[in-house]
Amino acid sequence: MPRVFSGIQPTGAPHIGNYFGAMQNYVTLGEQFGKNSLYCVVDLHAITNPAASDPRELAGRTFDMAVANFAAGLDPAKVVFFAQSHVPEHQELSWVFTCLTPVGELERMTQYKDKAAQYESVPSGLLMYPVLMAADILLYKADTVPVGDDQTQHIELTREIARKFNHHYGETFPEPKAVYNQGAVRVPGVDGHGKMSKSKGEASTIGILEPLDSIWQKLRAAPTDPQRVRRTDPGNPEVCLIFDYHKLFSDLDTIQLVDVGCRTAGIGCVDCKKKLMEGVTAHLEPLQERAEGLRADPDYVRDALRQGAQEARAIAAPIMDEVRHKVGFLKL
Ligand code: SF4
Repeated sequence: MPRVFSGIQPTGAPHIGNYFGAMQNYVTLGEQFGKNSLYCVVDLHAITNPAASDPRELAGRTFDMAVANFAAGLDPAKVVFFAQSHVPEHQELSWVFTCLTPVGELERMTQYKDKAAQYESVPSGLLMYPVLMAADILLYKADTVPVGDDQTQHIELTREIARKFNHHYGETFPEPKAVYNQGAVRVPGVDGHGKMSKSKGEASTIGILEPLDSIWQKLRAAPTDPQRVRRTDPGNPEVCLIFDYHKLFSDLDTIQLVDVGCRTAGIGCVDCKKKLMEGVTAHLEPLQERAEGLRADPDYVRDALRQGAQEARAIAAPIMDEVRHKVGFLKL
């Protein structure tokens, strides 16, 4: 059976782009592969960007990311869900891989180049980021990695590191492959400027745990088809982000009604947005109630993370023993 690994950044509350792009996919893969699917809140990765990982907030964000994923339907009893810093083997394997990876290859990574450009003095952790990512995946001999297409280069490097290790020390690791969530749609930002992204700030995002009132305020102000100036002007739903959101949240009848109503000026944009809000509420309200229940029971969340770390370590321990043996470390 394939083994799935995915890392989740503890960077603030997830938005609907994360939810439809990744989180729902985790739930589906979790149902398919059970304890062979590992999900890890990557707090070690988070500190590669010291400016964005305030130590007063990191623990809370890690906790919140667990809450959000559990509320979205990921059952920690059925999958392995844990925080990266609770499994120190990630760092140990990362060091072994660091010693095999040429600096030049890391400097060529597009994400590194983009991020490094923002620093006067670049933290070396930023350079090592993809090596730690390779360790995350290979520590479990995972062969299936659900990722966004911005991670293609990092997965290719992981495969290269696996090949290099196997060449130096003997066949050990599989070459994992990236799987892209084909069903995921590109979710536009609610401000109308490109893809929904946390880096563009809250004005661009709709958080899955954001109060419904606040979501409505954003939808109300969201741009629509710019050609549709008056209520009597027919519109084109294909150029409207509200219609993109309908495709995520509304049932087929509503989508068809909006599609026809927009093109014939049979429905106004405010009513269209109200219909969308009905779908958003039906979708997110139960999720938010589950999140509230989880927050009210922090011991449950902590126990789930503790259990997840134990399960992850149980898989990692023999693989790490194999690595230590092959690398030649003295066994006592
Ligand atoms: S009716 Fe709906 S889909 Fe059409 S332009 Fe207005 S908000 Fe967009």
